[in-house]
Amino acid sequence: MCEDCFEKGDARAPGSDADEAGSRRLFLLLGLSVLAGCAKQTVLSPMPSPPWPARPPRSPDVQQETTAIPRPAPPPPTPDWRRKLLPRSAWAHGRPVPTRMNRMSSIRFITLHHDGMDPFFATDHATVAAHLEGIRRLHRRKGWGDIGYHFAVDRAGRVWEARPLNWQGAHVKDHNPGNIGIVVLGNFEQQQPSAAQLDGVRVNVSTLMRVYNIPLSRVHTHQEWGAPTACPGSTLQKALLRLRRNGWLG
Ligand SMILES: [Zn+2]
Repeated sequence: MCEDCFEKGDARAPGSDADEAGSRRLFLLLGLSVLAGCAKQTVLSPMPSPPWPARPPRSPDVQQETTAIPRPAPPPPTPDWRRKLLPRSAWAHGRPVPTRMNRMSSIRFITLHHDGMDPFFATDHATVAAHLEGIRRLHRRKGWGDIGYHFAVDRAGRVWEARPLNWQGAHVKDHNPGNIGIVVLGNFEQQQPSAAQLDGVRVNVSTLMRVYNIPLSRVHTHQEWGAPTACPGSTLQKALLRLRRNGWLG
């Protein structure tokens, strides 16, 4: 397990089962128009509003297009993204626990991790799904509200939805607010990432950068936050540096 990941040192936020519906709706929104890994009771409450404000258009062209449309539509997803993104429902056997999580604040960062467990080479759907569920259960046993990461990338390059993006992640101690967590499945101190996996990471990161207007300077690996950790592992760190030099172009 990627060490030094924390659910919080942050205040708890109330939540509800309706948040699950909100998350699904958000994910559906991501899946359709965009590109879319800390238990306690749940209390029914009204549907939450989106956790981050619609970002303002930056270019004159976009401003012109959105004159008649109040909420600017994000850029269309790449075909690769839509084909490879798998919903949380494809693997998770339990719901996020809102009372154990904080709501996501305005998204500003992306951080990459490895799971750091035993080397993992499986590419079949069932085995990957079971692996993700194992990570979720491990994080739940820590008392966290859900798997700590927002996305996971498997060795076949598929991207899996993990913790819904309307909840703050639990993956970098003291730096979780506004920080999207992506876990690359495997232990990259002991194995190499596959080409397909790196391509999945590239598509995932470049799409999120575009959708949330995250600059290159705010895309980090776990160890780059100054944490005493080898995460995301030496081989993946090296590969990610190559992708970064290329601008994460997707
Ligand atoms: Zn990590």
